Amino acid sequence: VNQLLVIKLAFLGESTVGKTSIVHKFVNYEFQENREQTINGAFLTQKCRLGDKIIRFEIWDIVDRKSYHTLIYRNAHVVVVVYDVTNVDSFDKAKSLIRELKSQVDPKVVIFLVGNKIDLSERQVPTEEVKDYALEFGLLFYETSAKTDDGIRTIFTKIAEKFVSD
Ligand code: GDP
Repeated sequence: VNQLLVIKLAFLGESTVGKTSIVHKFVNYEFQENREQTINGAFLTQKCRLGDKIIRFEIWDIVDRKSYHTLIYRNAHVVVVVYDVTNVDSFDKAKSLIRELKSQVDPKVVIFLVGNKIDLSERQVPTEEVKDYALEFGLLFYETSAKTDDGIRTIFTKIAEKFVSD
């Protein structure tokens, strides 16, 4: 019998790092070069199969406003904090969001840290530095490009595996 597993995800991070693009690449297999800004946050779902399990991802694409944070703190199983590898300020912002999450959410909430836009050559945030940081704070770390589709399936598969193995 196929078991249905619902995983609630929230995407957080500075504006323009690519949160909406990552989610849309995964859900709709498409990428838009000049995406209009998501104004009020969006909700999307996607079903996947992993072994004998059917996974339904319920995804919140969160706009960077405090009122939304509280909502996801209470409801998400996984928080994906995204930064842009070509923008060091967005990594600083990611670190401050992680500090906030660590102090406010249930320790059971899984935090993924995702460096996006690896297709661009103007990198400012070295992979090794983030690896060390992620290890120190017990985060799962991946790099992606919503444009080329690099690593996008991987993050959702890793999220699913995390819950299937429990
Ligand atoms: P959000 O505000 O974090 O949701 O960011 P968006 O998904 O709206 O993306 C902001 C801009 O970055 C858009 O113009 C996207 O086309 C672009 N973008 C998003 N992901 C990537 C990526 O992986 N590579 C490149 N080159 N551009 C990206």
